[in-house]
Amino acid sequence: MDRKHVVIVGGGFGGISAAKQLRKADVNVTLIDKTNHHLFQPLLYQVATAALSPGDIAVPIRAILGQRKGMKIRLGKVININKEKHHIELENGKSIAFDYLILAPGAQYNYFGNDGWKEHAPGLKSIRDALQIRERILLSLEKAEQLDDPKLREPYLTYVIIGGGPTGVEMAGAIGEIVKRNMMRDYSTFSKNETRIFLVEAASRILNGYPESLSVKAQENLEKMGVRVLTDTPVTDISDNTVTFSEGAIETPNIIWAAGVAASPLLSSLNTEQDHSGRTIVEEDLSIPGKDNIFVIGDAAHKKQEGNQLPALAPVAMQQGTYLGKLIKQEIDGQTRSAFYYTDKGTMATIGRAKAVADIKGFKFSGFFAWVLWSVVHIFFLIGFRNRFRVFVEWMWHYFTFKRGVRLITDRFTDDED
Ligand SMILES: Cc1cc2nc3c(=O)[nH]c(=O)nc-3n(C[C@H](O)[C@H](O)[C@H](O)COP(=O)(O)OP(=O)(O)OC[C@H]3O[C@@H](n4cnc5c(N)ncnc54)[C@H](O)[C@@H]3O)c2cc1C
Repeated sequence: MDRKHVVIVGGGFGGISAAKQLRKADVNVTLIDKTNHHLFQPLLYQVATAALSPGDIAVPIRAILGQRKGMKIRLGKVININKEKHHIELENGKSIAFDYLILAPGAQYNYFGNDGWKEHAPGLKSIRDALQIRERILLSLEKAEQLDDPKLREPYLTYVIIGGGPTGVEMAGAIGEIVKRNMMRDYSTFSKNETRIFLVEAASRILNGYPESLSVKAQENLEKMGVRVLTDTPVTDISDNTVTFSEGAIETPNIIWAAGVAASPLLSSLNTEQDHSGRTIVEEDLSIPGKDNIFVIGDAAHKKQEGNQLPALAPVAMQQGTYLGKLIKQEIDGQTRSAFYYTDKGTMATIGRAKAVADIKGFKFSGFFAWVLWSVVHIFFLIGFRNRFRVFVEWMWHYFTFKRGVRLITDRFTDDED
């Protein structure tokens, strides 16, 4: 009998977990990603704030999956899925047939119909985004250094982070550290008291998905770091260097979008039901209705468990990928399918140096211990010993010296300085 062909779209947390499970299975596997690397998104904000280098949090997919007969890695963007003819179509005009298809294309930032805001307020989703934000922050400090009038340099020393979820909170905390402590001693024109950091949230509290006590703790910690938390403050407009709210506006080139997310646009080609964020609504075994050989996982999937939608988190994507790898192996061996069940091991968010909040199976805590746990978990889940070692050394260095090493302006996303 011919070996079945499993096609996996996306080499993120979900896709890589599925491919690893299938490494020793009696199937051919093709994994396609539009980038050549697996990205550890939870630490992207550390690249954006000059604490880590891109190479610390990204690993070539080929290096992870290695060489194995029957395992192919393809660089390419999938633009269409033909679910009736069982093939996918790539941007380069090629198509690939499948017996099983695992879609793990993740999500992207959603500007709620205001796509023009993207240019002024980049989100944090890729290495490129992180380097662009890093460059804006560093260039702003250089510009402020050249202005003697405090009023003129105020915008360059102002940071607005839109969205009070874990990413926004982590970003605000990290910027708080940089501008209030780490880098300020290297500049002579301005003082750290001139910097203003705003974390803007439309809802009534930050970390909305966490228990309320942890939201309060996170807000208190951020405020101690000098971050001004504006809740119940929906953004009404973003233009070049200005964020506008119903009451007032803030002028700055440093605007970071960490608000809504939408699932990959690729999913609409499945023509099945999607939720308001574009996530595909999947069955108990993560397949799509009417096609039991096509699965959607991770941030791209809308899966309910005990009445609640599973969160868009790395452990969900990883458990789903592993589950599907096993499901396909077992099905080929003639076994029947069982439903996917997510085991929640807890959620955490860091707020800055030695501060974090955690909710582990209902046990809520914050502070230094939560931060140590956050650091251990993040180092553990980084792929590759080299990365784990490098990140551990970098973090120790920052912890004891307060210094951020990767303060290079190299990428020139803005061309006005040429
Ligand atoms: C800044 C940030 C911080 C986060 N912090 C945390 C955290 O602390 N803890 C936590 O658990 N989760 C965190 N998350 C969420 C977590 O990263 C996601 O839940 C997880 O990455 C989802 O995995 P996935 O496999 O579904 O998608 P992803 O990991 O996003 O992978 C999707 C892959 O698909 C590829 N792809 C997309 N479209 C196509 C296409 N058309 N063709 C080919 N390839 C394609 C992409 O290049 C990518 O490699 C964070 C996310 C962000 C952005």
